[in-house]
Amino acid sequence: MMSGSDKPGSNKKIVLLATGGTIAFENGALHLRAADLAATVDDRLLGAGVEILPVDFESLPSSSLTPADTLRILEEAEAAARDADGVVVTHGTDTMEEAGYLFSLHWQERAPLVLTGAMRPATTPGADGPRNLLAACLVAADARFIDGRPLVVMHDKIFAAGEITKVHSWDTDTFAGDFGPLGSVNPWGEIRLYRPQPDTREILPRPERYPEPVAILMVGSGGDGSEIDALVSAGYRGVVVAAAGRGGIPRGMKRAIDAAIDAGVIVVVASRCPLGGTATAMDPGDILWSGEINAPKARLRLMTGLAQWGPDRKRLSELF
Ligand code: ASP
Repeated sequence: MMSGSDKPGSNKKIVLLATGGTIAFENGALHLRAADLAATVDDRLLGAGVEILPVDFESLPSSSLTPADTLRILEEAEAAARDADGVVVTHGTDTMEEAGYLFSLHWQERAPLVLTGAMRPATTPGADGPRNLLAACLVAADARFIDGRPLVVMHDKIFAAGEITKVHSWDTDTFAGDFGPLGSVNPWGEIRLYRPQPDTREILPRPERYPEPVAILMVGSGGDGSEIDALVSAGYRGVVVAAAGRGGIPRGMKRAIDAAIDAGVIVVVASRCPLGGTATAMDPGDILWSGEINAPKARLRLMTGLAQWGPDRKRLSELF
């Protein structure tokens, strides 16, 4: 186990980019601005000489952000990173895994990029925003994360941003990942690393826009596939099926998937389980299997591929 406290040094600039989410909620509305959030960070734990520069970028619940919005946030974070030692993005937790995934596919800056948020609004007992934000700022200012992959810091845990899944709708300990956290931030502001950051750096082409709609459809027992037929009729070029367990698909739905593929639709099968993913190569046919990538992330991956290459099954199959 690697360990160390490596407190941030002096004269560091951390940009706090606020985009909304529960961390900005106060008395039932998105009231808190970036400066209000920055004011909650305890200077004594952050360390002398670390300055937080608040920037208001968006003020939305994360379920209202589109993938194109996420790319705009990413561009703003990149611009900030060129003149700062770290960037913290405050974001709703509902789609934080999707932002974290897209950030991981496209981030190439040296400065650490850290996403954080809250499960409880500022005016709710046990509000977790200040605790999460302090921990995120400590991580963003820590030299061990320079040149690394984007991170999510929530509930004292440091995760690789591309690996997390939201597994609980109200618990403050809401994120899990197949490989567990990378490390932790304790109440005294000390950072421990349990395992090295993932060394795989996969950078996919960044689309200007996402022209192809991709739907996610969750399997229910006895599904007859008529929903898939309807998606094909509605013009969807890609469908991600969140299948049962390691990839179970009801018979009727399999018929509809085959017909969709024959009609030129790209079908990716993920698991409806939050963790574990699908078996690979279960079907030698034209279904693409997402493996460990969950359905919302598989959708973004497919949208990214479709934007770049169109419905070229052979090329897209290299993504899965
Ligand atoms: N509705 C919130 C969101 O913007 C939930 C949260 O932040 O936890 O995602």
